[in-house]
Amino acid sequence: MARGKKIYEGKAKILFEGPEPGTIVQYFKDDATAFNAEKQDVIDGKGALNNRLSEYFMIGLNHIGVPTHFLKRLNMREQLVRSCEIIPLEVIVRNYAAGSMSKRLGIEEGTQLPRPIVEYCYKDDSLGDPLVSEEHIAAFGWASQQDMDDILGLALRVNDYMSGVMYGVGIKLVDFKIEIGRVYEGDFQRLVVADEISPDSCRLWDLETGQKLDKDVFRRDLGSLTDAYAEVARRLGVMPKGTGPKPTLVN
Ligand code: UDP
Repeated sequence: MARGKKIYEGKAKILFEGPEPGTIVQYFKDDATAFNAEKQDVIDGKGALNNRLSEYFMIGLNHIGVPTHFLKRLNMREQLVRSCEIIPLEVIVRNYAAGSMSKRLGIEEGTQLPRPIVEYCYKDDSLGDPLVSEEHIAAFGWASQQDMDDILGLALRVNDYMSGVMYGVGIKLVDFKIEIGRVYEGDFQRLVVADEISPDSCRLWDLETGQKLDKDVFRRDLGSLTDAYAEVARRLGVMPKGTGPKPTLVN
């Protein structure tokens, strides 16, 4: 499919104008970044894996009535999505303490939280995506109170869906980040889950061994990132052709 002009290039994806008005082609790059792009690398096959995995999660969410921007996957690296106005918040849901929450509050990584905790960060790389409260969000007009109610509802539904799907393949959903977009339909606006849902934006630990199957493998130099993502894809039955583990050569 012919794609149009490049609209935006981010750290892990490029957005192009789509074939119809109101559509966008989302291209998944192999680039990996962490710590606000201080650590960078190109990881062969990551883009194709995230394209497949995000497709899988978004289709599942659409099936259970959680609206997303996803329309269809186009090829190994691209998917067609609805264009939407991204709310400048990273919506984080945590089931177990890890990462920045563990550091901030001194809670040991892996401690189960009394209930899912939703946090909001203001999307601004130059500030390092700072944690903000609903007071900031309302005062600066990033989202209305109605939007915040809807965002909380979406975040918790995505959490239940993702926790269940991952549990079914022996993986614990520790935490994840989603982004929310506004879609305009005539005079109405709707909020949808946008961007991507993939091991780049989730913490996924093997239920039995605790092995990390997410971007922490890259952040913390724990081995092959593609092997980790391929393991998630394999367990979910969405392993794309050509990204499997290389066969071991036996003399
Ligand atoms: N996350 C993300 N993008 C970001 C920041 C966080 O996808 O810019 C995800 C991250 O992969 C993890 C969750 O959000 O699954 C919580 O991240 P945390 O706040 O612990 O930040 P980190 O420790 O990654 O800096």
